[in-house]
Amino acid sequence: MSNQKIMRGFFILTMFAAFGAGTSSLAAERSQIPEKLTWNLVDLYANETAWTSAKEALTKRIPELAKFKSHLGESAESLFNALATMADLQKELARLVTYASQLSDQDTRNSHYLEMQQAIESVQVDLGSATSFLRPEILSLERNQVERFINTEPRLKDYMQFLDDILRWKEHTLSTAEEKVAAEAANLANTGAAIHTIFTNADLPYPEVVLKDGGKIRLDAAAYTKYRANVDRSDRDKVFKAFFGKYAEFQRTLGTSLYAQVKANIFNKDVHKFDSSLQASLFNNNIPVSVYKQLIADIHTNLPTLHRYLRLQQRMLAVKQIRYEDVYAPAVKSVNLSYTPEQAMDLTLKAFTPLGEEYVVALGKGYESRWVDFLPSTGKKSGAYSNGAAYDVHPYQLLNYMGKYEDLSTLAHESGHTMHSYLSAKSQPYISHDYSIFVAEVASTFNENLLLHYMLDHTKNDTVRLSLLGNYLDLMRRTLFRQAQFAEFEMKIHEMAEAGQTLTGENLSALYLQILKEYYGDAEGVCQVNDLYAVEWAYIPHFYYNFYVYQYATSIVASTTLASQVLAEYNSKEPSTKARDAYIKLLSSGSSKYPLDLLKDAGVDMTTSAPFATAMAEMNAVMDEMEKILARKK
Ligand SMILES: [Zn+2]
Repeated sequence: MSNQKIMRGFFILTMFAAFGAGTSSLAAERSQIPEKLTWNLVDLYANETAWTSAKEALTKRIPELAKFKSHLGESAESLFNALATMADLQKELARLVTYASQLSDQDTRNSHYLEMQQAIESVQVDLGSATSFLRPEILSLERNQVERFINTEPRLKDYMQFLDDILRWKEHTLSTAEEKVAAEAANLANTGAAIHTIFTNADLPYPEVVLKDGGKIRLDAAAYTKYRANVDRSDRDKVFKAFFGKYAEFQRTLGTSLYAQVKANIFNKDVHKFDSSLQASLFNNNIPVSVYKQLIADIHTNLPTLHRYLRLQQRMLAVKQIRYEDVYAPAVKSVNLSYTPEQAMDLTLKAFTPLGEEYVVALGKGYESRWVDFLPSTGKKSGAYSNGAAYDVHPYQLLNYMGKYEDLSTLAHESGHTMHSYLSAKSQPYISHDYSIFVAEVASTFNENLLLHYMLDHTKNDTVRLSLLGNYLDLMRRTLFRQAQFAEFEMKIHEMAEAGQTLTGENLSALYLQILKEYYGDAEGVCQVNDLYAVEWAYIPHFYYNFYVYQYATSIVASTTLASQVLAEYNSKEPSTKARDAYIKLLSSGSSKYPLDLLKDAGVDMTTSAPFATAMAEMNAVMDEMEKILARKK
């Protein structure tokens, strides 16, 4: 936790992964895939020999940093020279890491690529320790001295935000010796998470169930995720009961491991003088606690929208009473849409037209110049990501494209990250080209939103429209309501522990059930929640991520608002590009300002309820539309 904090701003590999999509057993050999659908790593280094010489050159330069130690405060020039050297070495390192890690991702079985990765990781560790004096030394400078330096040395202006982002930690920083102890204690902070991972992956005796079709399955986490969406209701019921029944047997152990994590967070907030664990975590991105609390309050005000969705789901599933185990069931008959990679590129470019020609042309050129590795192949890393770490080259995308609508949507999502990286690298110096997660998932979900609108505008078939609209609502339930529900649980368990209460499996389950029932309207008869699901918290790894999940919710709220502004302007008769320009500016701003300020400049103020209201209006409009279609189909 604190290691991450130290590294923050110094080196962050810009990589945002999407969930899902494993490698397929039908995957082809890489050699059979048309070259135009593979990424072009030659843009990074001509060949491995070039990579090796660049790595050696970088290794030789690392000792250059030592001469700046203890001299940062001497003059504006020496501060600038130290930071510029650091940035330069980190930029080169990021490019080297990108090459090795992406080669390895092409074929994870290849041990030579793994060796390359390990070799560059060790250079990374060396550079990390060679730069480790910078942060504490900057923190020891007086703020007005740094400001004076910036005023006398114009080249330091690029580093203003970077310096401010360190200096604002002053009152939360202890003496060097104390920080050393705190950092060592922080190594113990992962214990809860480590126990949870090893227990749920290796030791938990997952149950076996026999499904209606006679098939016997072992219900581990992956199987649960798959079969909870089973078409047959009795199968879903069986899957839920078996899975959470097993977790319930171990709720004491898993409660103790989660309590260990919470205690570590509390230790960190105490030694670094924060009022709460929540405040300590949000301080990383300079987000005020009020934004988090606002989200929880907005969710509660808008639970009727979730309830409307659940009633609609009940109607589409044609069941008398919807239950919690029905929420993943496919409500709309699946439509077999499929798109070739070429069609997917073409559709996303068309869907992004409201973002302007420059955006579309740049992405189109990226597609053509092989920024994207499209297809699954034997040994290739699963899932999808966009990697914008190679600052002076271009971003890359790894996909496992299978041609379904989800795959098209993933391309839109990752292209959002890709263009964010591309535009920020184009406009920002290296030090501020990277962006925080708080804004990252705005750029990606914005593009998913544009894609959905484009598809709806160009689809007449009611069944297909229902499927698209249903997908959207499911996304909102999972990304907004479910993540906010987790965020509320996470906040409350920390509050309980901070008030001196011991957390046990039993009281964690009691709290979780209370929140879950409230969200799903159990008392009002909206959706029945079986008491057995109280233990669902034990299966969620994100509770070990230290207040991470709320960002999924805030991102989709922000992107919905921004997309609706850009689309309204695009569809209006008035010739204006104000909303679009503000949004492109956000994408071009990297981390040159704090996340909330960037979003505010772009037109969305996350300290108010207005963005949430816009997201709810969109969700309700989608439900209006679905109800109209359903009435027509009748
Ligand atoms: Zn993403």
